[in-house]
Amino acid sequence: MTSLMMRGEFPSNGSLEIRCPRCGGPARWEEPFEFISTARRARMPALEPGIKRWSGWGVRERFPSLMAWRPPKGGAAYQLYRDGVVLCGVCHHAGKHRLNWPADALFGWSIRGVPLWAHDREHARVLLHYIGGALRDPLRHPRYARSLRKLPATIIAARNRERITRKIQGTLRDLGIPVDAPAEAERGTRVQAGQTG
Ligand SMILES: [Zn+2]
Repeated sequence: MTSLMMRGEFPSNGSLEIRCPRCGGPARWEEPFEFISTARRARMPALEPGIKRWSGWGVRERFPSLMAWRPPKGGAAYQLYRDGVVLCGVCHHAGKHRLNWPADALFGWSIRGVPLWAHDREHARVLLHYIGGALRDPLRHPRYARSLRKLPATIIAARNRERITRKIQGTLRDLGIPVDAPAEAERGTRVQAGQTG
């Protein structure tokens, strides 16, 4: 089976928050195709309309009017998080967009020259509460634990804590997003409590 290629640590839901290439406002970038493995496809209704076949995958076009499926040439792997669709709620732009990450990130900061970015608002709030928190336990944010453990030394340095939390809070407030801990963090805490208790 031809593989799907994923660059870096991106979320599994195929969705990011980016700056609109037209107006600079908050927009979403979406993976244009859903790939259904052969095993899963076997359990699907036999005649699901619109599913394309490609090298052991079923491919569903999520935005058929914007991006039609075209298989990679020469048996190459399909690169996820590259060509996708941008949807802007401000100027209502909807079109193809080749992702330029992290330059496109809606949530991006530079901390003493070290870039820090978040995939979306929930990720930004997780970073705010992880970096700003006293305990800094990655397991409180299970979905982000791996990336939190990989944050560069400059980002987790205590001397930069206030500078970073101010920047993240500023961005969230500018966009009208609450700065309290996201629900994901609370879920993580409960899971953690259940496992240890
Ligand atoms: Zn826009």
